[in-house]
Amino acid sequence: MPDRSALLSRAGVRPCAVVPRTAPRWGVRPCASYTAGAASPEPSVRPTASRFPALPLVDTGADAAPSGDLPADVDLAGLAEGPREECGVFGVFAPGEDVATLTYYGLYALQHRGQESAGIAVSDGQRIVVHKDMGLVNQVFGPNSLAALQGHLAIGHCRYSTTGSSTWANAQPQYRERPTGGGVALGHNGNLVNTVDLARDLGVPPSNDSELMCQLLARDVDVSLEEAIVRAAPMMEGAFSVVVMDEERLYAFRDPHGVRPLVIGRLPKGGWVVASETAALDIVGAGYVRDVEPGELVVIDEQGVSSQRFAEPTPSFCLFEYVYLARPDHRQHGTSIYAARRRMGRVLAQEAPVEADLVIPVPDSGTAAASGYAEEAGLPYAEGLVKNRYVGRTFIQPTQSLRQLGIRLKLSPVREILEGRRLVVVDDSIVRGNTSKQLVAMLRAAGAAEVHMRITSPPIAHPCYYGIDMATRAQLIGADMSEAEICAYIGADSLHYITLDGLISATPDERPGLCTACFSGQYPIPVAGEHADLAASKFCGDVDEQALAERTAGG
Ligand code: SF4
Repeated sequence: MPDRSALLSRAGVRPCAVVPRTAPRWGVRPCASYTAGAASPEPSVRPTASRFPALPLVDTGADAAPSGDLPADVDLAGLAEGPREECGVFGVFAPGEDVATLTYYGLYALQHRGQESAGIAVSDGQRIVVHKDMGLVNQVFGPNSLAALQGHLAIGHCRYSTTGSSTWANAQPQYRERPTGGGVALGHNGNLVNTVDLARDLGVPPSNDSELMCQLLARDVDVSLEEAIVRAAPMMEGAFSVVVMDEERLYAFRDPHGVRPLVIGRLPKGGWVVASETAALDIVGAGYVRDVEPGELVVIDEQGVSSQRFAEPTPSFCLFEYVYLARPDHRQHGTSIYAARRRMGRVLAQEAPVEADLVIPVPDSGTAAASGYAEEAGLPYAEGLVKNRYVGRTFIQPTQSLRQLGIRLKLSPVREILEGRRLVVVDDSIVRGNTSKQLVAMLRAAGAAEVHMRITSPPIAHPCYYGIDMATRAQLIGADMSEAEICAYIGADSLHYITLDGLISATPDERPGLCTACFSGQYPIPVAGEHADLAASKFCGDVDEQALAERTAGG
C-alpha cells in the first residue's frame, strides 16, 4: 500500500481539509498552427475545380446563413435556454476496492446532471479528504488526485448551481467538522424550499441549501450522525436525494416525496453503491438492488445495510425526469427511460397524426420518442440533425457575432435527408421558444418542405422549485401563449404538445405519485412567500444574496 501522506502531498491534496486546486491540473499547450504572433496557416480546405461548384471557405449559402434567415426578434442567446439538470450524487462503501476511482466513474455516468463542478470525499476510517473543483469530472480528477484519495468509503457529486452561485466554495461535497470531532461530507441533488427558515435557525446567510444541510447535520453534539439525520431531515422541505459520510459510514436519504431518483446497488465483491441513476451502477459493475424509498434513511457500514423511515412517504416523483432529465438507460420504477420515451412518441402519433414523409428527432432526448412516433405512424425515421456532443455547460460562451450561429453551434442539419421532405420533428420540450424558432428556420433553410413539431411534454407553464432550472414564469412561452400562438411564433406548420394524461400513460407511474407542477401548476410541496421569491430568483440566476441575507436577518 503506498504511503497515503506521500500520495496526498504529491497530488497537492491536504488531508482533513477541503482543498481547492490552485494551479491547472491539465496541461494546455499552444496550438502549433496558431502560436501568437505567427501568421495564420493556410486553410486546409480549398475550393476545387471539379464538376461540383466550388465551396466557399466561409459558407454563406442558404442553410448556413441563420442570421439572415432568422427573424430579427429571435433572442440568439438561446444556446442555454433549455431546462438544466441540477446534480448527480454517488456513494460507495467497499473495503478493499479503489473507491475513489469507482466514484469517478460513477460521476462520469452522471455528468449530464451537472457540469459546473465535481468533487469526491474519501475516508480511510480515520479522516475524510475532499477534493473538488470547477469543471467536468475528467477535468477535476486525474490519476494523481485519484491515487491520493484512498479509503474504503467515498461520496461524489457533480453540480449545476441552483441556490448560490457557481463558485468553488459551493461545489460539493460540502464538508463540516463536528464539535465532537470528526467530520461530515455531503452531496445533494434537489432543492430545498425552506432555505430561508433553515438559515434563520442556524443564524447564517442563506447562500446554499446544501451547505445549510451539512451544517445542520454537523452541529449536534449529543447524538450520532445517524440520529442527527433523523432529527434534521424532517426539518428540510423540498426535494433532496442526499449522500452523506463520516469517517466510518455511508448514509443516503431521500425526501418524503421522492422527487429526485436515488438507487442502491451491490458490487460483485460485496460492496455497496448509492447513485442518482442506475447508469452509474452499470458503469461500476454494480447490480441494481432497489430504490432508496421516499422518507427513508439508509446506513451502510461493515455490518451491511440498515434502514429506517424519518417520514411517511408521499411520493411525487418528477415527471420531467422521464421526459428529459434522466439518461435513457436509467431504470425508474421498473422501466427504462428509453422505453417510456418510445411510448411518449407512440402517444404523440395517436394524439396528433399528420401527413408527412419522415420523422426526425431533436437529439438526444427526442430520439427514442421519434422512433416510437415513426413506428406508430408507419413513417420512416431518420437522423436529420447531427448533434455536436461536446457543447455543454462549459462551452465557451460565444461572442455576439458568433451568437448569430445560434442553434447551429449545437445542431447541424443533414440536407440530403431533409430536402423536399415533410418532416415530423420530435423534441422534448419548449421553454422560451427561441431554440424551437431557430430550429424550424434552420430546417426550412436546409430544404424541408414542411415542419410539424411534436413535443413529448405538455407546455411548461410554471417554474420548478424542486431542483430544475427552467425559467421564470414570465419567460416561459407556455405560460401565456396558446398552442396555436406558439406554433405561429416558432414558424412551424403544425405543433402538438403531448397531453398530460398521455404523458403519464407512457410512464409506469400514476398521477398521485408524480410531480406535474411545471405543467399543471399543482405543487406537491407548498412554496410560499419569501421562499417562492427566492426560488424564482435563483432559478433565473439572479439571486440577490445580500438582500436575502438582510431579509433573513431582519426576519
Ligand atoms: S416542477 Fe416539473 S421539473 Fe420540477 S420536479 Fe415537478 S415535474 Fe419535475
